[in-house]
Amino acid sequence: MEKKHKFSIWYVLLGIWAVLILNNLIYQSIGPEVIPYSEFLSRLRQDKIKEIAIGDQAITGVMLDKDNAEVKFKTIRVNPDLAKELEGHTLKFRGEVESTFLRNLISWLIPIFLFLGIWYFMMRRMGPGAGVMQFGQNRAKLHAEQDVPTRFEDVAGVDEAKGELQEIVSFLKEPERYTRVGGRMPKGVLLVGPPGTGKTLLSRAVAGEAGVPFFSISGSEFVELFVGVGAARVRELFSQAKEKAPCIIFIDELDALGKARGMSVVGGHDEREQTLQQLLVEMDGFDPRVGVIIMAATNRPEILDPALLRAGRFDRQVLVDKPDLNGRIDILKVHAKRITLAPDVDLKILAQRTPGLSGADLENILNEGALLAGRADRDQVTMADLEEAVDRIVGGLEKKNRVINQREKKTVAYHETGHAMVAAYTPLTDKVHKISIVPRGIAALGYTEQRPTEDRYLMSRSELVGKLDVLLGGRVAEKIIFGEVSTGASNDLQRATDLARAMLTQYGMGTTLGPVTYSRRNQPIFMPQDSSYLPPGQEYSEATAAGLDDELRRLLEEREDRVNQVLSEHRDQLEAVAQKLLDQEVLESREFYTMLGLDPDKAAGQAETEG
Ligand code: ADP
Ligand code: MG
Ligand code: ZN
Repeated sequence: MEKKHKFSIWYVLLGIWAVLILNNLIYQSIGPEVIPYSEFLSRLRQDKIKEIAIGDQAITGVMLDKDNAEVKFKTIRVNPDLAKELEGHTLKFRGEVESTFLRNLISWLIPIFLFLGIWYFMMRRMGPGAGVMQFGQNRAKLHAEQDVPTRFEDVAGVDEAKGELQEIVSFLKEPERYTRVGGRMPKGVLLVGPPGTGKTLLSRAVAGEAGVPFFSISGSEFVELFVGVGAARVRELFSQAKEKAPCIIFIDELDALGKARGMSVVGGHDEREQTLQQLLVEMDGFDPRVGVIIMAATNRPEILDPALLRAGRFDRQVLVDKPDLNGRIDILKVHAKRITLAPDVDLKILAQRTPGLSGADLENILNEGALLAGRADRDQVTMADLEEAVDRIVGGLEKKNRVINQREKKTVAYHETGHAMVAAYTPLTDKVHKISIVPRGIAALGYTEQRPTEDRYLMSRSELVGKLDVLLGGRVAEKIIFGEVSTGASNDLQRATDLARAMLTQYGMGTTLGPVTYSRRNQPIFMPQDSSYLPPGQEYSEATAAGLDDELRRLLEEREDRVNQVLSEHRDQLEAVAQKLLDQEVLESREFYTMLGLDPDKAAGQAETEG
């Protein structure tokens, strides 16, 4: 659009210039000959002037040239006392008032018409009823993509997410199959995951696989300077999408737009809220059977406005997590297709060296390797190039605390195995669902996920003790294997201590303190536990406090002994599971229980032990 404008302004200027040149030419060819005043005087003295008209500034007239032919001439007046000179010569002369009116008028009119023309032209470009709304339209139109070339095979290592999105693809391809039996597709699908894991890529792959138009817009593009623009843009986007259905609307970086209301700092606040409101209205207002599916991506789901996540909006969430070892191998394979690899390249080794890296990081490594090979003027990318690329990129990321080294990885593997094994060997605990040493976020280097088989509202003392044991499992395993504990276990210890204290002071589960509750903290039920919420003053004596501390220590020591016993007894299994975990980074429930020689279908609840 910008380009065309410049072009047309040049066009107009060119036109003006051409007219001026032409004008000059015509004037010169048919206009009077312009002669200097001195020549005029000398001709006057020679009586070669036949007739003149005297204006304010110029004298025009007819003179005789060399061949005594009459020619028109013009000269600029210099001598004010011309009349005297003229006397005694045989010529007609008269005074004339030069008419400059027309010329003045034209010199005013041309610029005015020019500006009017440009203005009209610009308004035409924006379309009828031009205004801010039309900008929105233009932007959204720019983003409608017809044949998206991306396919699912371009995205690797996120099989679970792909599986869930497969359903969306088949709905877009043949909606009748679902609507015939009264099925309703989710309106909104939210892709959640750390940066660079392929969320944008996946959404494009869905559009590519289904072969539908893809409207893509970034959340930040909605948030404009002028109030009302964002909301208008949302309206426009949806109305266009409905025309093109079946199609996909993709809102990248939804968090820029969908931050929980009332959370933002001053400025742009009302505008964002209005836009968000409009998005909610549009999402509620359309029938999913028309075949428009709204996808969005975010790496900060926790700050999204809860209204966005309600049923009928982004009610389906797909986790796009960082890839495990096999995932990383697959991603490397996908991107290795584009570069010429030397035969010595082993992608598995690269994958082993890069735990915690995202798909984008891995792509970056291959690219960096190719650049290194190019710099050395080689035809193939060698393993050495790629190793150096890993060093560079991992080194860069290590500074940002995103990658763990091999020794840390080993510690984490034993730690997590400790949690999981204690859970497996303790009755009344939640079933181990998954063990992972793929780092998540900043704090957690690994996690053991336990899932409840039913909802629980009450817990017995033995169940709470079981929880204590599982929490202590990580650090005890570290102690057994390495002879010391790492800082990674401190959060577990904190949680174990809090739980044990609650058992003694709130639930009356102690042995020496009697059936008394020693704490009357009323915590807000729906708020996170907040330790700063302590009421002033203690409700028990110093002696009781000392007794409480004693019993607390005794309880935890007792649990630690038991955990130590369990893990030492099964030390060979601890080694084997941790080794397996180091190899493949993730261990699913079935595989884990089988390794312990236990029944994988043994049931039990939800807890997650991080760190
Ligand atoms: P996100 O939107 O999650 O931040 P992107 O989809 O923009 O991540 O990913 C950036 C680039 O990284 C992609 O274009 C792709 O080249 C590469 N990439 C990321 N994840 C994957 C993956 N799972 N498989 C293949 N390539 C990936
Ligand atoms: Mg993205
Ligand atoms: Zn732990």
